[in-house]
Amino acid sequence: MTLDIDQIRKDFPILDQQVYNKPLIYLDSAASSQKPLAVLKKEEQLHLEYYGNIHRGAHYLADQATNDFEAVRDKVAGFIHAGSREEIIFTKGTTESINLVAFSFGEAFIQAGDEIIVSEMEHHANIVPWQMMVERKGARIVKLPFADDGRLEVEKLDELINAKTKLIAVAHVSNTLGTINPVKEIITKAHAQGVKVMVDGAQAVKHIPVDVQELDADFYVFSAHKMYGPNGVGVLYGRKALLEQMPPYQGGGEMISEVTFEKTSFNELPYKFEAGTPHITGVIAFGVAIDYLLQLGVAEVASYENQLLEYATQKMEQIEGMRIFGTQKAKSGVITFNIDGIHPFDLGTMLDKMGIAVRTGRLCADPVMDHYQQAATIRISFAVYNTFDEIDRFIEALERLSVMLG
Ligand code: PMP
Repeated sequence: MTLDIDQIRKDFPILDQQVYNKPLIYLDSAASSQKPLAVLKKEEQLHLEYYGNIHRGAHYLADQATNDFEAVRDKVAGFIHAGSREEIIFTKGTTESINLVAFSFGEAFIQAGDEIIVSEMEHHANIVPWQMMVERKGARIVKLPFADDGRLEVEKLDELINAKTKLIAVAHVSNTLGTINPVKEIITKAHAQGVKVMVDGAQAVKHIPVDVQELDADFYVFSAHKMYGPNGVGVLYGRKALLEQMPPYQGGGEMISEVTFEKTSFNELPYKFEAGTPHITGVIAFGVAIDYLLQLGVAEVASYENQLLEYATQKMEQIEGMRIFGTQKAKSGVITFNIDGIHPFDLGTMLDKMGIAVRTGRLCADPVMDHYQQAATIRISFAVYNTFDEIDRFIEALERLSVMLG
C-alpha cells in the first residue's frame, strides 16, 4: 500500500498554518509528534459523553470509561506482542516508566557492588534514574560505548558483563544518532549471562514494528506523545515473573488490595504499579493513536520515513561544512548535525523565523555531545506527515543560511 501523504496531512490540522508568515514545516516529531483529529476527537467525546473515574465501578459513566481504558491495555499488549495484559503498566511517559523500573528493580534485585550497563548514547531519562538507584544501593554504572559513526560497540559487552552485572539499559533507537541498535543481539548476550535488559523504545515504536516476546525483552518502555498520541501517557512493558517480584513504585489508591494502619496488601498486576487516578482521557485517546498507526501500517510508515531520511541526508551532505552525527545504515527518524563555523542556536533561530521547526541544543544527551565535543547541535526528525517538498524547502533554507551566517 502506498501512503497518500496529502490525505494524511488533512488529519493533522495543526500543520496547515503559517508561522511568521511562512508555511509551517514541522521537523521536530522526535520531541513530540502532532496528533491526528481522531485522537483529539476521542478526548473531546470522552469529556462530552462518558467521563468518570475508572475502576470504581460505581456508575454507568465510570463503567464506560473503565471498559475503554482497559481495552487500550489489551490494544497496547497486542501492539507490542506482550504475552499478557498484566504486563502492560500505564505511566505518564518513558521517563516515569524508567524511574519505575530503576526504583523497583533496584529494590528487588540490586545489592551493593552490583553493576548496571548503560549505553553511551542514552537520553538523560535512561541515565539519571539509574544513577539515583546505584547511589542508593552502593552499586555502579558501567558505560557501553559507541563508535564515532554512531554504532554501539556491542562486542564490548563480552568484556563488560561479569558476575556483578544485573541489567543493561539501552535505547532501541537513539534520539540523537538515529542508530537502530541490535537489541535482540544484546538481549541474547545478556540472557546467556543471566543479565536482564531494559529497552528504551521511545524513538522506536513509531518507526519499527516491535515484538517484545520475539526480542525477549525484560522491560520495554515508550511514550504515547511520540507516536501520534497524547502527552502525559507512557507504557512500561515488564515480564510478568519480574514485575511480580518487584515492589510497588508509588503508594496510593488503586494499587492496594486491603489497607489497615498496621499493614497494606498490594493489588495484583498491573494495578500494583498504577497508584492513583491515571491519565484516563490520555490513555483512551492513545488507543485511537495506535489504531491510526496500525491502519497506516507501521512498516509502511517506516519505509516512507526512511525515504525521507535518505533523501534529506543525501542533500544535506552536499552543503559545505556539513557534519552529520550518526551515519549508520540502520538508522531511523532523526538527523543531528552541525555546519562548520555556524552556531547551531543562530541557525535554529533563523530556521524558526523561516517557519521551520527544528530542535537545537544538547538533545537531552550530554554524553553524546561530549563524545563529539559539541556544545550543541541541530536535529531534524520526521513523521509520516512530512513531505519531500518540505525537505527541499528546508535544504534551500540551509543553503541560504549557511552562506549568510558562514
Ligand atoms: N528516551 C528517549 C530515547 C527519548 O527520545 C525521550 C524523549 N525525548 C525520552 C526517553 C523521554 O521521554 P518522555 O519525555 O516522553 O518521558
